[in-house]
Amino acid sequence: MKTLLEKEALHAGVSKMAKQIEQAYEGRQLTIVGVLTGSVVLMADMIRLIQLPMRVGVIQASSYRGATTERGDLIINSELMIDISGRDVLLVDDIFDTGRTLTRVIEKMHEFGPNSIRSAVLLQKEGRVEVDYIPDFTAFNIPDEFVVGYGLDYEDMYRNLPYLAALEPADLEKHAVLSNNQN
Ligand code: 5GP
Ligand code: MG
Repeated sequence: MKTLLEKEALHAGVSKMAKQIEQAYEGRQLTIVGVLTGSVVLMADMIRLIQLPMRVGVIQASSYRGATTERGDLIINSELMIDISGRDVLLVDDIFDTGRTLTRVIEKMHEFGPNSIRSAVLLQKEGRVEVDYIPDFTAFNIPDEFVVGYGLDYEDMYRNLPYLAALEPADLEKHAVLSNNQN
């Protein structure tokens, strides 16, 4: 795997974004909602960095895709979400690629009557956006490569890597061998 962002660089970028969020919501209470599962690592760091009174919740969005496959149907599960009616919501996700996932999640959340919804993402891929929306806060812009680590997965693995890496063809072969040995 090719490392794109070391642990220290990730921390610096996330801290900077946390400061921007603090300034944007100064004097207000925040409701932070993380999109499962990719945002868990970013959420754990962000909620400890942002010095504001906050409520923390989650929503789940899942679609079937891998490095080589196209995205399947998106399933949004809001059953676990806390009450956001009348609240200032900050939606947190791992990566903004085409933007379809985040915009669909935002659409769904509007059904619950929040006062406002803004979004923060760890990564934005260059030249991929297919929607008329951009996240309010972005920690890093990256080239169009399939990345894993710091919450991002390939077939539910590699989320625990403390750095961000790009998966290369040789890694996919190794992954396939490892997965087959488990069956
Ligand atoms: P979008 O709907 O913006 O095209 O895609 C967003 C979702 O696709 C992300 O939440 C993530 O689950 C997945 N995704 C997009 N690009 C990557 C990537 O490079 N690596 C990983 N692990 N997931 C990605
Ligand atoms: Mg995701």
